[in-house]
Amino acid sequence: MGLDWCLVRCKCGHSFGHRNGTKPKCTICGSNEVTNVQQFSDSRSLAYAVSDANLPKELAKELSSRLESKFAIEESRQQAPVSIREKVRRILRSATDEHGVLQLSAIRRELDSAGLDSESWESIIGGAELEGILVRCSNDSWRWV
Ligand SMILES: [Zn+2]
Repeated sequence: MGLDWCLVRCKCGHSFGHRNGTKPKCTICGSNEVTNVQQFSDSRSLAYAVSDANLPKELAKELSSRLESKFAIEESRQQAPVSIREKVRRILRSATDEHGVLQLSAIRRELDSAGLDSESWESIIGGAELEGILVRCSNDSWRWV
């Protein structure tokens, strides 16, 4: 297979693909003043390269504003720290399965993903039992009171 497929860039900034042996013509402005950027052996890789090349121009703005709002959300989260108590309750809630049961493995997993020491489950569960919100139903499972 030869490198029959070309990614070219027009002077207007638009990137598009064309097949070797044909005359490239910009699909946006109709110009044929194009620069060869890269060659490919199949049309599929070319298609990916074309969308990649055009991504920054068309989507960069949208993507960056999305990222900015994401950072803003994270910042506001950090500015309003959740109390440990509330954090633990959230962890316990998300560790609860559809039967309302909390398995030890799920609790450890949720502690892990919340960035807490999964070995601290014992004191967390112990605290919840003392508070009367959880009751043990087997060696390694609990349910809400
Ligand atoms: Zn053009």
